[in-house]
Amino acid sequence: MKAGKISNRKQTAAMAAGGAAMVLLVLFLLVWMVREDRKETNRTILEISDIYLAEMADQMAGHFDTTMASQFTRVGSVMTNIEPRNLESQETLQQFIAEKQQNNNFAFLAMLDEKGNYYSADGCYPAAEVIESAQALLDGQPKCMESNRTLLGRQIILISAVMEPIPFGDTRMVAAIVGMEPAYLSERLSLYREGANAYGNIIDREGSYILRYEGKEEDGENVLDFLESNAVFDDGYTSDMLSREIREGKTGVTAFTLDGVHKYLYYIPLSVNGWYMCVSMPYGKLDERISELSGGMTRMAMGIILIITVALLSIFIGYAMIIRQKNRLLAREKSSTEQALRLAEEASLAKSEFLSRMSHEIRTPLNGIIGMNHIAMHNLENREKVKDCLHKVELSSGQLLSLLNDVLDMTKVESGKIELCVERMEFGTMLEQLAAIAGSQAAEKNIDFRMETEMDRDTAYLGDSLRISQIINNLLSNAFKFTEPGGRVSLRVRETDVREGLRRLQFTVEDTGCGIREENKEKIFRPFEQECSATAKKYGGTGLGLAISRRLAELMGGKLTVESRLGVGSCFTVEIPLWEAGDGEPALQGAGQKEREPENPSQGAAHSVHQGNGKDNPAPEVSPEENGDLQDSGAPADTGTPADTGGVKPEGRAFEGKRILIVEDNELNREIASEFIHMMGAESETAEDGKKAVEKFAASPVGYYDMILMDILMPEMGGYEASGLIRSMERRDAGTVPILAMTANAFAEDVEKSRQAGMNAHISKPVSAELLYAQMDRFFRKEDS
Ligand code: ADP
Repeated sequence: MKAGKISNRKQTAAMAAGGAAMVLLVLFLLVWMVREDRKETNRTILEISDIYLAEMADQMAGHFDTTMASQFTRVGSVMTNIEPRNLESQETLQQFIAEKQQNNNFAFLAMLDEKGNYYSADGCYPAAEVIESAQALLDGQPKCMESNRTLLGRQIILISAVMEPIPFGDTRMVAAIVGMEPAYLSERLSLYREGANAYGNIIDREGSYILRYEGKEEDGENVLDFLESNAVFDDGYTSDMLSREIREGKTGVTAFTLDGVHKYLYYIPLSVNGWYMCVSMPYGKLDERISELSGGMTRMAMGIILIITVALLSIFIGYAMIIRQKNRLLAREKSSTEQALRLAEEASLAKSEFLSRMSHEIRTPLNGIIGMNHIAMHNLENREKVKDCLHKVELSSGQLLSLLNDVLDMTKVESGKIELCVERMEFGTMLEQLAAIAGSQAAEKNIDFRMETEMDRDTAYLGDSLRISQIINNLLSNAFKFTEPGGRVSLRVRETDVREGLRRLQFTVEDTGCGIREENKEKIFRPFEQECSATAKKYGGTGLGLAISRRLAELMGGKLTVESRLGVGSCFTVEIPLWEAGDGEPALQGAGQKEREPENPSQGAAHSVHQGNGKDNPAPEVSPEENGDLQDSGAPADTGTPADTGGVKPEGRAFEGKRILIVEDNELNREIASEFIHMMGAESETAEDGKKAVEKFAASPVGYYDMILMDILMPEMGGYEASGLIRSMERRDAGTVPILAMTANAFAEDVEKSRQAGMNAHISKPVSAELLYAQMDRFFRKEDS
């Protein structure tokens, strides 16, 4: 039970640990998922941003190219309608240029001559100093662009294109140079993409702005310098790396945080001057959308995981509960199975003990009958002897019959078939009969017996007098059986309750016997149960009397109880309700009750008086053939039938001069054995138990006894112990005197036990004279030879 609890606790702990581990695992999975999702989202955002920005930057770069191409066309066409009058003098030319500049809304307009001078609205100046692209134009490059800060003292974009040379004085005009406001160009280049919140800047390889989105966030003139001092790049990227990439003309994307805003920067080289288109876009724009998407997906995934977890946990908990329930049921089943098994084993043990006891109880009187019969047969001429034998045969037969009746009664009681015979019952007569039987038992055992009646003995009742007598007789015979000589037994009878003719009769049987242990007070009322096996050994009996008595009392509407103190005595009380019988009341038959069947003559007053020595021993019985020699345990046992004794049929005085010690507690059996021995001319001495036998042997001179016939179950000391003690004595004949077991224990294991105790042969009761003689003859012949 304790072990069961511990293992249950262990199981619960294991389950709780399993559950906790599961929850932890799920939590860990969730955290891991969220982190992985975040990482994946970032990667995805970067990838998408890359694609998106690349696309946008491409578009912007393309747009730049087309815008610039159209501007070049414009530049090319500026000078196409120049007329000779405009070329008459420098003034006319300057005037023309000034007109054109104003009409076209140019910030600056000039013509470059082949000598490297430029002619603007203000006059003629050498170009080399102030216009970087002049030389390239002179060198034959058809188109040029530059960001110029010197011409006007502010930044303008110079777009120049070579043209059909126009003679002017001693030189020729070879190119047109247009200066445009960066804002004007920026506007045309659509550097801002509203939907994406992205904007582009055009920078040179050093990072200086060429064209920039006007709503730009970055300050300063150089984007790389600005980023270096203000931006924090992602994943260990640096502004140096960015600068290098741009210097090397590479395309790429990077991410950084500027003023708390996470941004992407895509850089792609343009077709002009190694300039770069840098498109920047705040991360949040894409991130928001993607995070929204992935957040939704993560939430959905987490929801699904949670549902799965809850489902798994429920299954787990449910399973754990089922397992616990099952275990509990199994434990309960196991304990009830064990209980059933124990009960079955107890029942089976009680039954086999009963069988063994019955075997013994039957053999004891049977021994008397067979033995006395044999003695009578050999003393036919002696009338007195024959008479005595027959009387003893009758007594033994009576014992057998009462035993049989007990068993039959019990069987009837058990199967509920017992029937009461209710008739007029003369109470005084019944008491007299009870007193007579008790009186003789008391006298036999020297016990003081008293009967007290506190009521009118002449009253007549309606009841089953035989069954009532059976109960009282049984209680009385138990009282005598368990009380030592010199003790007291009393029977008290009184009416405890009188109500309109219905009397409650109380019989109390009290003794000063051995008493009953508290814990056995109920047990003794169960069929085949005795207080302990020692009781059975010492007093015999079948353990049926009280069970039958209690059932009978209950059948009559009464009860049977016991009060007892170990070593002090017992008091059995029967209470039976009986109707008073009117005068001349005829015999009555109650409902479901009928007259006693005649086939059970000894019922009632002659109820079993358990005699003999109760001895038990289970196991299969030994057939008479198995009686015999124990010396050679390896060989099959010498068969015990006379025919098997080698034809030896000892004659009259065959054992003359031999002295045999008969150890036997039962008087009749002692007598039979002695008689058998005398009939063969031998002498006998007797001992009533093992202890006395040991004392007698010890006191006798060496070789005094020629043989010992030893009963096994005896009070004080049994045959095994006595044989063992005799064999261990320090005298010459201790090991040689033949000891023959002569017992009602007739089971195979008893034979083996006898051998182990040092006995030479085993003779089962009822004893056959021929078998006894054959065995004796065997040992005496061995001795003599
Ligand atoms: P049996 O006498 O054949 O053994 P019973 O059913 O009459 O069977 O008694 C059962 C047991 O109860 C006895 O073996 C004995 O142990 C105990 N018992 C009965 N009556 C007494 C008594 N008066 N004193 C002591 N023990 C008793």
